[in-house]
Amino acid sequence: MVVSQPSFRQARWDEPIIFELGAPGRRGHIPPRPEPEVVEAVGPIEDLLPEELVRKEPPRLPEMSEPEVVRHFVRLSQMNYCPDVGLYPLGSCTMKYNPKICDLVASTDQVRWAHPYQDERTVQGLLAILYELKKWLAEITGTHEVSLLPAAGAHGEFLGCLIIRAYHKRKGQLVERREMIVPDSAHGTNPASAAMAGFKVITIPSGPDGCVDVEALKAAVSKRTAGLMLTNPNTLGIFESKIKEIAEIIHDAGGLLYYDGANLNAILGKSRPGDMGFDIVHINIHKTFGTPHGGGGPGSGPIGVVEELEPFLPVPRIEYDGERYCLNWDKPLAVAKIRAFLGNVAVLVRAYAYILALGPEGLKEAAEVSVLNSNYLLKKLASLEGIEVPYGPDRPRKHEFVVSLKPLERSTGVRALNVAKRLLDHGYHAPTIYFPPIVDEAFMVEPTESFGVEDLDGFAEAMRAILEEARAEPEKVLKAPYNTAVGRVDEVRASHPKTMVLSWRMLKEREGLSRA
Ligand SMILES: *Cc1c(COP(=O)(O)O)cnc(C)c1O
Repeated sequence: MVVSQPSFRQARWDEPIIFELGAPGRRGHIPPRPEPEVVEAVGPIEDLLPEELVRKEPPRLPEMSEPEVVRHFVRLSQMNYCPDVGLYPLGSCTMKYNPKICDLVASTDQVRWAHPYQDERTVQGLLAILYELKKWLAEITGTHEVSLLPAAGAHGEFLGCLIIRAYHKRKGQLVERREMIVPDSAHGTNPASAAMAGFKVITIPSGPDGCVDVEALKAAVSKRTAGLMLTNPNTLGIFESKIKEIAEIIHDAGGLLYYDGANLNAILGKSRPGDMGFDIVHINIHKTFGTPHGGGGPGSGPIGVVEELEPFLPVPRIEYDGERYCLNWDKPLAVAKIRAFLGNVAVLVRAYAYILALGPEGLKEAAEVSVLNSNYLLKKLASLEGIEVPYGPDRPRKHEFVVSLKPLERSTGVRALNVAKRLLDHGYHAPTIYFPPIVDEAFMVEPTESFGVEDLDGFAEAMRAILEEARAEPEKVLKAPYNTAVGRVDEVRASHPKTMVLSWRMLKEREGLSRA
């Protein structure tokens, strides 16, 4: 049977690069000249700039009218896909709906026009927001104190690893404690952050239940152990039920426990890493607390620590004396400053608005619905021919789950990558594929709480249709997608440093090279 064609069609504009648009002299906006009195008082504004900062030549920028600019970006947006359009089940990356009220709050004048060098006394409101936010994040994670500085999850991990270093150094043990234990199911940033902070990464295997193999952990732990980095629920969406025992093993060995809280969605208001025995926690604001995180947008990865590690948090610290908020730079044990100013403030303000809008009960409900959606969709997909569920199919998952498309590949030659591409033709974003690496033909789905049962049913139906199509017409699935703005990309060329073109300058250089 030939499966009916999905009706989704993405806009396909032949849109040039912005540098190829416009014409010399065309203007969208002419900034007002300063008032004559101002010029008289301070002289021509050009003269206010230090000589070495004044350009001899004007920069080569596109010269366009306002409507041209608007059309350019709206056309590009029509060739894109986002959670405002439909289901975006990117496992581990948590792409959920971002309430518009968060954007509204972040774009008020007091936030938008605040300058990082402004005197503390003039940004008391903003400091109050950040101060309260860090208190809330400490409460949500069960930690003692939070730093809002890191700009992403991986950045938070790196800071956490620096704090683990500082802790052991203070105890005079840094020379011996050089090993960071990381399970084989961990996100790739975990071993990378540990290695960047100077640790040797010791990988331990997962057990048959998909959780940390406690015997393997015991065997890996020694006087050389600096700490353990763990994600819980882990990347399979399974809660590590032996977490108390794991924490004890690491603490008894003199190590610290690091919690990768990039995926906090499942446990919001339900359980807290601090209560599980973790010493350091990072949070991906841009996954859990409502800031658009697609396309490499701005992020924020605050970390929380237990009381004993508080002295090592970086400066400045936002403090409150009962009357005024201020920045404290006087923390002699603080690790290096890892981020300019106060972090990605606009992202943090959105998180503040998000938490305030939902309230404690709302956060709990978000966690519950994200877990419900995930298990509902898992049951639907698990019943399809071509899909198998590794690591205990009957165990409940948390906010996400991983299935394997190995049976489909074996019988049809169609791989997880091809099914993911074909899903685009049905108007769904593809899930995460080939991660975690411990699952063959991994297909990692995170529906989040922000999609309803109709969306989940629609996705399951699209999957059913694609698997059926794979058996009837595998060639068709192998060549997908057909209905998207950009067709099949060359996976290797698209990600190889030698062939990637990331900027106008790179393109011009490359063209120069190919002409030469
Ligand atoms: C996304 C993610 C990270 C890294 O976060 P970034 O903000 O992308 O640096 C780390 N661990 C897990 C489990 C993640 O899902």
